[in-house]
Amino acid sequence: MHIVLLGPPGAGKGTQAKRLTEAYDFVHLSSGDLLRAECRAGTELGRRVAEFIDAGRLVPDQMIVEVVLARLKALKGASGFLLDGFPRTITQAESLDAALQGCGEKIDLVLKLAVPDEYLVDRIVGRRTCPTCQHVYHVRFHPPIREGICDRDGASLVQRTDDTREVVLERLVAYAAQTRPLVDYYRRRGILREVDGARDIEDVLSDLRRAVDDAR
Ligand code: AMP
Repeated sequence: MHIVLLGPPGAGKGTQAKRLTEAYDFVHLSSGDLLRAECRAGTELGRRVAEFIDAGRLVPDQMIVEVVLARLKALKGASGFLLDGFPRTITQAESLDAALQGCGEKIDLVLKLAVPDEYLVDRIVGRRTCPTCQHVYHVRFHPPIREGICDRDGASLVQRTDDTREVVLERLVAYAAQTRPLVDYYRRRGILREVDGARDIEDVLSDLRRAVDDAR
């Protein structure tokens, strides 16, 4: 099964994608994680994308499409994938469709996490990440046992450079202008399922699981 997880920054895509891949035999592919790994590794691509990420702007389509499609190609044989953060523009969605069509495949389900704008800024600005295991916390909603320290490996938590209030506002603008049109793109195909993401993690997860089970 090929699934796209859609929603604004802070909607909980990463958290739910991890939960869903634990529950099903899907491969989780996060475009943001892929790009951040390139930045950390100091690759040529990482250097080129860092300025876009830090400014809260989308990386140019051509760069991200190349990276994600190469990964998908390498996944051939996997029982399914869950795309988190990709596609983010109509051009990316069309490239993805074309690539899948080329091997007789398609996107089967698009899960949209709906969260009102007023929740998103707080959710993102309070987010802290473990630089070693990448586990994500929130200073209020999901704090670590010891403030600022990862429960799993004791590393000092950091705030992503693009999780500041100023950059978040840019990311929300980019979502509204470039990504929100995908909702109609997929709705027209009858594969979009919308889930209320402004609730407890477990409640959201159970609705997402129901949508996946219905589509299987
Ligand atoms: P995320 O972790 O999904 O919030 O992504 C963090 C940042 O990576 C975004 O704000 C963009 O700068 C970049 N990015 C991730 N995925 C994409 C994509 N599909 N298209 C363009 N830029 C992306």
